[in-house]
Amino acid sequence: MSSVAIPDGSPFSIHNLPYGVFSVRGDHRRVGVRLGDSVIELATLLGDDEHDTFAVPTLDRFLAQGHERWASVRARITDLLMGDIAPGGVYPVSDVTLHLPFTVGDYVDFYASQHHASNLGRLFRPDSEPLMPNWKHLPVGYHGRSGTVVVSGTDICRPCGQRKTAGDSAPTYGPSQRLDIEAELGFVVGAGSDMGDRINVDDFDRHVFGAVIVNDWSARDLQAWEYVPLGPHLGKSFATSLSPWVVPLAALQHARMPLPVQDPAPLPYLQGHQDWGLDVELVVEWNGEVVSRPPYREMYWSPAQMLAHLTVNGASTRAGDLFASGTVSGPHRRQQGAFIELTWNGSEPITVKGEERTFLQDGDEVVISATAPGPGENRVGFGEVAGVITPAVPR
Ligand code: CA
Repeated sequence: MSSVAIPDGSPFSIHNLPYGVFSVRGDHRRVGVRLGDSVIELATLLGDDEHDTFAVPTLDRFLAQGHERWASVRARITDLLMGDIAPGGVYPVSDVTLHLPFTVGDYVDFYASQHHASNLGRLFRPDSEPLMPNWKHLPVGYHGRSGTVVVSGTDICRPCGQRKTAGDSAPTYGPSQRLDIEAELGFVVGAGSDMGDRINVDDFDRHVFGAVIVNDWSARDLQAWEYVPLGPHLGKSFATSLSPWVVPLAALQHARMPLPVQDPAPLPYLQGHQDWGLDVELVVEWNGEVVSRPPYREMYWSPAQMLAHLTVNGASTRAGDLFASGTVSGPHRRQQGAFIELTWNGSEPITVKGEERTFLQDGDEVVISATAPGPGENRVGFGEVAGVITPAVPR
């Protein structure tokens, strides 16, 4: 048993050990793992030889070291934490500030939920087929803006921009009136790939280090006017929030599950022998009230298929690249990961803390959390990604 106290049923058991970057009362940033309600400083736990990798303000160096190092370090941390450890370098999680854990390289956002893509198709293009003809043949995605990826707890300023509804004779400029969320998982590339190379579905584990929760804040009025024909742009690029703990793939072994049937069969480059989906339960809280429980197990395209597609043209990847799944939505009520779906574009308000609500108001807080099955009765926690909406600053 570990000498670090772990509350019964904690989703941060010895089977999880997610990595993050923390500081204590404004001191230097360094890498730690979470165990129970404690943060363990890795440079202290692992000793002087590991200072170059862990007494640093990001996970970047560790990510780039590759899957064999990830496995050996995890085994060593687990071993050490199962025994008695010295009290130095252990902090209550309530005493630390958590930071963006890695330098975000390229950021791509996919669109891998059939339920979400179908709902958005019905809302944005009511007179045509909900799914576009390409949707079941390739994981649709777009390149997002890595420079505005922020850590949980960062305030989100309501964006301004151009919008035009069907009833308007001309576009107008102003604060978004349809500010929304998208609850997603994000996958963090560790060991990259060279320009010209491809990452096969079955090589996913050699390249991807772990997963985080993503909130892809979305200004639906800006998005609806600007997205034709090149896709999302300013309606998304103002902010994307990440949970601060990166859950290693090794902690998600028990969450692996078969993918839904893919019909028609995807092209060979999107097939593999070791492909899997993930049984992760997300929970969306709006001003402290649970409004949705999106099930990741419903996702049509796998994370490995997303990465295979992302690199099939020879695009390179590097440590810190992030690709997100797209909004996680299930088939049932209260399983949608975006308010545009939950309220059917604002036409069916939901009650939040006794008030009828559609899109986000200034001062609103959204918290998205997630857990997955671990060994036995254990759950593996991702923690949460939180953000508060602050008023627009018109320019
Ligand atoms: Ca998205």
